[in-house]
Amino acid sequence: MSRALTFRNGVHPGDAKELTAASPIRRLPFPDEVVLPLRQHTGAPAKLLVRAGDRVERGDMIGAAAGFISSPVHASAAGRVRSIGPWPHPSGGFEPAVRIVVDRYAAQMPRRRLVPDWEGLAPKEIVSAVQAAGVVGLGGAAFPAHVKLSPPADQTIDTLVVNGCECEPYLTSDHRVMLEYADRVYTGVRIMLRCLGIERAVVGIERNKPDAIETMRRAAPRDLDIEVVGLDVKYPQGAEKMLIKVLLDREVPSGGLPGNVGAVVQNVGSIAMLAEVFETGLPLIERIVTVTGPGVRKPGNWIVPVGTKLCDLIEGSGGLDDDASEIIFGGPMMGASVASLDTPVLKGTSGVLVLSTNETRLRDSHPCIRCGRCLEACPVFLNPQRLGSLARKESFSEMLEHNLMDCMLCGCCSYACPSNIPLSHLFATAKAALRRRPAA
Ligand code: SF4
Ligand code: SF4
Repeated sequence: MSRALTFRNGVHPGDAKELTAASPIRRLPFPDEVVLPLRQHTGAPAKLLVRAGDRVERGDMIGAAAGFISSPVHASAAGRVRSIGPWPHPSGGFEPAVRIVVDRYAAQMPRRRLVPDWEGLAPKEIVSAVQAAGVVGLGGAAFPAHVKLSPPADQTIDTLVVNGCECEPYLTSDHRVMLEYADRVYTGVRIMLRCLGIERAVVGIERNKPDAIETMRRAAPRDLDIEVVGLDVKYPQGAEKMLIKVLLDREVPSGGLPGNVGAVVQNVGSIAMLAEVFETGLPLIERIVTVTGPGVRKPGNWIVPVGTKLCDLIEGSGGLDDDASEIIFGGPMMGASVASLDTPVLKGTSGVLVLSTNETRLRDSHPCIRCGRCLEACPVFLNPQRLGSLARKESFSEMLEHNLMDCMLCGCCSYACPSNIPLSHLFATAKAALRRRPAA
């Protein structure tokens, strides 16, 4: 019997990937300055290790991990620390950051390997090297990779789920990684399987990327138990819970994690990065960013140092179109608008989307008409209409009773709402308010 290749509910926004899907990954020139916030990952921000005036080489650690769920930050270019202080952050506020003036004449390559070769290492040593290299998930939340590779003793993991869906409209960096670096992805899969002590991996790729499905099938190593599955195109197919359901037919319980059902999920870009740090001997100091949208002149998939400012990224992409009206870090469903062109690319910045006035013309919000479309859209079966009315009253505790914490902030409900109520934005605000509350 053939299995369903998607999940229940969700939405079908146009994927808008044609602007960059055929653009090979290219490197932009080093900018004059990089700005590296100490908060770039889920968990505690890194602890500062440098002072203004210090000389740093490319790959030097400038912020140390502050605990297990934390990650170090490394200089992404050789140069001199100009200053340390608050700087515009993609989260919307200001965060402490290290500004480095890039040395135009430096070779930008360290003289020695900073990350050891993985082949001779025991699994625990690989995991330590992954943490020291500052590797985090590149898909958005920037969850430290070493934590995923160290499941708690009470979880029995049997499958690595490789996320090649890239279901956010416009973004194409993972698509290009699968086409151009399939072997590197599989080296990363091999490393993860060894660390987790398991043998099976399943790769899920949406069917709007047939070339990636074919390339990944062709490149799959024969000595590994790997299945590459083409999935229906629906948003948010790449969300962990959705992917586990469709690929493994397992339900992650409310409040649970993939490990509760024996799975570890990682996206292809992050897996390729895991292999890359061991291949190059350099920590995570650069990444691929899709710069796209009708408001930018030369959309593309660019390799840039982490810490590259938005203004330099836009300049490298041909500049803004006269009609550019809004810049979003991430995609249109889960991304966030940024106000400052000084905002730097972080480890978790997968894309920069520049919209024109046509897409951003303000749409008025109207009262709820109780149509139920948000309920039909929610992939985790919440009641966004009820949650929305509680959010407006700031009844945050009551929202918890309605399982607010299961909300993935995927944006399906907002997208489906004919009254243009910014539901997922309200839920993000509520979650942030609850996080700031002192523990009872
Ligand atoms: S943002 Fe939250 S409530 Fe809205 S559809 Fe997504 S998971 Fe459901
Ligand atoms: S989709 Fe919008 S208008 Fe319809 S029930 Fe939900 S919140 Fe109300």
